[in-house]
Amino acid sequence: MSIQNNLQAVKEQINQRALLVAVSKTKPNEDLMEAYNAGQRVFGENKVQELTGKYETLPKDIEWHMIGHLQSNKVKYIAPFVSLIHGVDSEKLLKTINKEGKKNNRKIPCLLQVHIAEEETKFGFSEEELSNMLSNERLSELEHVDIKGVMGMATFTNDEAQIRKEFKALKSIFDGLKSSIFSANDSFTEISMGMSGDYLIAIEEGSTMVRVGSSIFGARNYH
Ligand SMILES: *Cc1c(COP(=O)(O)O)cnc(C)c1O
Repeated sequence: MSIQNNLQAVKEQINQRALLVAVSKTKPNEDLMEAYNAGQRVFGENKVQELTGKYETLPKDIEWHMIGHLQSNKVKYIAPFVSLIHGVDSEKLLKTINKEGKKNNRKIPCLLQVHIAEEETKFGFSEEELSNMLSNERLSELEHVDIKGVMGMATFTNDEAQIRKEFKALKSIFDGLKSSIFSANDSFTEISMGMSGDYLIAIEEGSTMVRVGSSIFGARNYH
């Protein structure tokens, strides 16, 4: 199957129920251009250096999403152009994004990453950490971040019931925030959940954005 065919098949399955972020990490520009020429405009990367390199060389109408763990000291490289930062997992990072947004005279769209998986290794806030942080008055002073929703990753397992339970938990956290802290914020609308193995379950559970890599571009080779 070609990238173009894979992309078409994934889009048919999503059937416009969620935004498709094509996760192109580790893939060469030619692969991204094949998806681009088939109409894809939203791409996700998880390394700052790779993201900026691709941004500089590929067409300017691409929307670049940073989907991986982001270190505060690297925010400055993507702040001028990034369309959405999915993995905001600390107050320090949120404040740094705000500072860089200010320098670039823009409001940077972000998602708060929530730890929903059983695994210890995944990044993200617990529900308590999130509400503690968000109840902090000073956060309302952050004028250069636009918190658009939440992001999460399910446990890497074949147990569909487990995955579904974790996606339900994220949806419920989103609903809780939407009806409290963000009730006056019309742009708090996004739930980024679902990858190649579980995006259809994620959509059933309320995902608005799926991050799909290998189902479009094939398996990744890490060197
Ligand atoms: C790599 C990655 C994806 C895509 O994974 P696939 O299983 O290849 O679809 C999605 N989200 C994040 C955060 C990733 O790092």
